[in-house]
Amino acid sequence: MAAAALRQVWARKLPVPWLLCNSRRCVSSSFKAADLRLEMTQEPLKKPEPTETLVFGKTFTDHMLMVEWTGNKGWGQPCIKPFQNLTLHPACSGLHYSLQLFEGLKAYRGPDQRVRLFRPWLNMDRMLRSAQRLCLPSFDKLELLECIRRLVEVDKDWVPTSPGTSLYVRPVLIGNEPSLGVGLSTKALLYVILSPVGSYFPGDTVTPVSLLADPTFVRAWIGGVGDCKLGGNYGPTVFVQQEAKKKGCEQVLWLYGPDHQLTEVGTMNIFVYWTHEDGVLELVTPPLDGVILPGVVRQCVLELAQTWGEFRVAQRTVTMKELLRALEEGRVREVFGSGTACQVCPVHQITYQGKQLHIPTMENGPELILRLQKELKAIQYGTSAHEWMLPV
Ligand SMILES: *Cc1c(COP(=O)(O)O)cnc(C)c1O
Repeated sequence: MAAAALRQVWARKLPVPWLLCNSRRCVSSSFKAADLRLEMTQEPLKKPEPTETLVFGKTFTDHMLMVEWTGNKGWGQPCIKPFQNLTLHPACSGLHYSLQLFEGLKAYRGPDQRVRLFRPWLNMDRMLRSAQRLCLPSFDKLELLECIRRLVEVDKDWVPTSPGTSLYVRPVLIGNEPSLGVGLSTKALLYVILSPVGSYFPGDTVTPVSLLADPTFVRAWIGGVGDCKLGGNYGPTVFVQQEAKKKGCEQVLWLYGPDHQLTEVGTMNIFVYWTHEDGVLELVTPPLDGVILPGVVRQCVLELAQTWGEFRVAQRTVTMKELLRALEEGRVREVFGSGTACQVCPVHQITYQGKQLHIPTMENGPELILRLQKELKAIQYGTSAHEWMLPV
């Protein structure tokens, strides 16, 4: 927070905002990648073969990154050490009050065998924003990124080779206060684990999902924290996901407000490719108004579509009423989700108010989805330097 803005807050005697408690900590300097301590495993694990059998998030690599923070001493020395269990105080605030946040990004192996991280700068930005929202300590984004790069380098043999596979990187930051009081953490733990993941869709295909759109369940709200990747946002969605399964749907379409705005699909951002009421062909996704998680792939889809310049690209609220009307009038081309796990994922059915709505995404190619998939893959698995890729 800028000093001037801070002074204004004091002058107007505003309630202490969350930014303030963190700005106090801006003085605590970041950990530095140059201080990294390396402790290599003596018992390397067997790497999974073949990677087609990999179930998401169940296999982990030999090493992890760990940095501890205390209010008194600031950040400790970052350490890459053998993958191991954590020892936590039973009152750990990260466990009791969801003082916890995470990130998700991927490293890809190109045909030249080099490993590259996909737009990791955006994940560092988002992680710092999440940390500020929970009054957890801030850090230098580039120092953390360099530590992550080193970790991936140490475990680079774990980055799978077959097409469509990748290494999922999971940074986590938790409050580690050994106290039952709800308040600022004076201890925190930042760590990063790595997980080799298989191809989401086999080959160059895509498989569509069906969604349950039930407005009785709300994922996020204005003034809430839906725009931060906090663990507390995800635990409560498991129940809703089970409700969707019971009704024969694979994922949840999160609606918001009395007008049933479309917000997100499961843990993905949502896109609608249609002819708008005004007759213009457009790709639309909800704006970043606080209930939407600012996805990295969301940003990529918007940027790619904008550079093509072949249709209008809009960030605007879309309601179920608008979607229903567009379906009736045959104006909907494709509906899809976007996220790091799948990149882009088609939607072919939405169950809403007791009715099954068919979305003709697959009948339409899906032209746009396949094009986006192809372009993203070309960048991620490409061998030529691209500004979105950080070579490890
Ligand atoms: C992580 C996430 C996304 C997608 O973000 P990416 O950075 O594209 O992976 C979208 N919505 C929610 C709710 C998420 O948690």
